[in-house]
Amino acid sequence: MSFTLHGIPVSKGIVIGQACLMSPASLDVDHYVIEPEHIEAEVDRFFAAQRTVQQELDTLRAELPEDMPAEIDAFLNVHSLILRDSLLTGATAERIRSQRVNAEWALAQQLEHLLSYFDEVEDEYLRERKADVQHVIERVLRVLAGTSAVIAPMMNKSLVAAVDAGMGEQGPSAASYESERMIVVAHDISPAGMLHFKTQAFGGFITEYGGRTSHTAIAARSLGIPAIVGAHQASTLIRENDILIVDGEEGVVIVNPDPRILEAYRTRQNEKARAHQTLQRLAFAPAHTEDGTPIALYANIELPEDVPLALQRGAVGIGLFRTEFLFMNRRHTLPDEEEQLDVYRRVVHIMQGRPVTIRTADIGADKAFESAMVESETLSGAENPALGLRGIRWSLTEPGIFLTQLRAILRASADGPVKLLFPMLGSAREITQTLERVEQAKQQCADAGLPYDPKIKLGAMIETPAAALALPVFLDRLDFLSIGTNDLIQYTLAIDRTDNAVAHLYDPLNPSVLHLISHILRQAKQAGVPISVCGEMAGDPVYTRLLLGMGLTEFSMESSQLLHVKQEILSASLGALKAPMRALLGAYEEEDIQGALSILALAGNIELGRR
Ligand code: PEP
Ligand code: MG
Repeated sequence: MSFTLHGIPVSKGIVIGQACLMSPASLDVDHYVIEPEHIEAEVDRFFAAQRTVQQELDTLRAELPEDMPAEIDAFLNVHSLILRDSLLTGATAERIRSQRVNAEWALAQQLEHLLSYFDEVEDEYLRERKADVQHVIERVLRVLAGTSAVIAPMMNKSLVAAVDAGMGEQGPSAASYESERMIVVAHDISPAGMLHFKTQAFGGFITEYGGRTSHTAIAARSLGIPAIVGAHQASTLIRENDILIVDGEEGVVIVNPDPRILEAYRTRQNEKARAHQTLQRLAFAPAHTEDGTPIALYANIELPEDVPLALQRGAVGIGLFRTEFLFMNRRHTLPDEEEQLDVYRRVVHIMQGRPVTIRTADIGADKAFESAMVESETLSGAENPALGLRGIRWSLTEPGIFLTQLRAILRASADGPVKLLFPMLGSAREITQTLERVEQAKQQCADAGLPYDPKIKLGAMIETPAAALALPVFLDRLDFLSIGTNDLIQYTLAIDRTDNAVAHLYDPLNPSVLHLISHILRQAKQAGVPISVCGEMAGDPVYTRLLLGMGLTEFSMESSQLLHVKQEILSASLGALKAPMRALLGAYEEEDIQGALSILALAGNIELGRR
């Protein structure tokens, strides 16, 4: 049956593929394609893990004290039977072979399959065996997690291939690997869960939850794959292997389309691919306005793997390296100084002399992480995490972790131009405490004879109204600033940026937001302090002229957006933007704002539309 779902488009492009439903359990599992010559080795790895669990169960049974209730023995016996059942063993091996996927993924998929089967069983006793199946499979998954995979994840190859071939917006061609046409459908995906997508190859994704600037959406844009969030009921209405068209331009998902619709979308896909090839020609053209003002375009990254795309799209540097992603998906270890140094250095080296702005960990809010290594209660448990211990507040309460990160960043600055950026600074006291820690870390490096750039530039994110309104203290004490519009909008309008129930109220064009941004840019300019915008507004071509009109000359964004924004800049004349900008900042009613925006757009032909 064909039907259509609507949601919020968060990452452009069109993809046609098969639905791959994901429960939270399978989101924690790696997924990659196995080369044909390694398939049997992968099947062996699965059976080896199954045998290990069998031995564990045998040992448990053998060591049961005499006086243990008989139920325990029976329970272990049931687990052994499940473990040997062909619905678990044979079916999983078959999935590895037929889908050419890794053992963890095949097993997690088989678990999903078995669980849905249990839901239909009427017999209560049998239905209760569901938990046993889950238990046994999770044991095998744990063992698999401790053994290394047969091959490295495929995405590394596709990424390199995409960069080599100078491929378009959709990255590697959809036909290059089967799994790239798999479309993930989930209720929600956490930022940590999204990390899996960085090393796995999918064609797009759909979630029921999330807003335009949620980190899940940001990660999708960084991958350059079409994505839609807030698609209600998607994971209930869509079935495994349904054919889907994800239209990331309009926010539409067409499920099991009829052949005519499919054909129409294939044509649109081809047109977009051609348009993107034309756009790619702009990558290495200097960015300046039509009347000659140079504009610097930087990339936002989350992992070193994001850097090749930034270079391919002509970024002049990294304007925001969100380091918190290094701290996620690791329960029992935190990245130590050497591991962090290695990652930061890698980015600095790949950027070959272009500046790299490294932001200290912005842990907390929707980027909560659970680590047995961290003592601060908080994070995931806080009632209102966006207003809780996040960003610099968290770092200041964890001086050991903070100093480790500062030393690693300082040491990376010996290898190339590095700037140090702090998230969520809100007051003079926090600035003082932060700068004291930087001095302490510098001293520690000096004492240990470790080189670093003593003149490293220090900057603050301006992402709360508190920081925006107390700007003089930031201008006095820091070398540069970067406006985080994602949070600035969230905190100014009191709209949770991840909550799709209020996504329609999340409005970058709200006069209070426009006045704050304009005020920050004007004051920084007067004080001669360099300033950029690194929130999602900087990467949305709808707002390019508006930001230019406010005087912005440094933009930092997801690499997938760089060329779209550059195209806008090249055709914008700063002179022509002045009058409509004044009108826009004088407007408070919806229609006046829209009117001023239309004139702003005509000053350089941008297509308007509020998101
Ligand atoms: C922002 O808030 O705009 C920003 C860039 O930081 P993050 O999205 O990581 O919170
Ligand atoms: Mg922020």
